[in-house]
Amino acid sequence: MRERRICGVDFDNTIVTYDELLAAIAHERGLLDSVIPATKRMIRDKIRRLPDGEIEWQKCQALLYGSRIREARLSDGVSAFFQLCRAHEIPVYIISHKSEYSRYDATGTNLRDAAVGWMAAHNFFGPGGFGLTRDVVYFAGTRQEKTARLTALRCTDFIDDLEETFLEESFPANVRRILYEPGRESPPPAGVKLMKSWQEISDYFFGGN
Ligand SMILES: [Mg+2]
Repeated sequence: MRERRICGVDFDNTIVTYDELLAAIAHERGLLDSVIPATKRMIRDKIRRLPDGEIEWQKCQALLYGSRIREARLSDGVSAFFQLCRAHEIPVYIISHKSEYSRYDATGTNLRDAAVGWMAAHNFFGPGGFGLTRDVVYFAGTRQEKTARLTALRCTDFIDDLEETFLEESFPANVRRILYEPGRESPPPAGVKLMKSWQEISDYFFGGN
């Protein structure tokens, strides 16, 4: 019998891409000389090296995930992947490690509500869009809670941009670990499949070429 797949997907930097928005925010705040094309990781490392860099980074994150999230974009290829899952009747869960509020956010935005609002604005819910429902979206306060959730939902595959997710001790051994990290040059950790685009992920799930 063919295995019935259940797909879990991370949200930040996996479904949603903040690279351009972070570059814009960092430039506005005087943390970057110019808006240069760079990945979130490169900009993060640059900000962290500044005086008070860790706090500046937290403030940038509060803006990215909160009051400015509307400006973030859907990662290329996510839409096609979700539509293929829908066509193949593969259940999809979005499982995000995200606090409700940031202590560095002066606007007091609920970050989980902001994420759901962004999904709604990008046609995630309802029959006209990706056909997901609000109840397939889960938020976890810790990495352990995230792992517990994907285990409870019986995910067979999990897609995440952070290798730390897969290295979590409680991460279930039988769940396929798909690392979505477009800019990565180094090999992934053992047992983790590196995918540099959503197109590659779609091909992996549904057979490409
Ligand atoms: Mg992420």
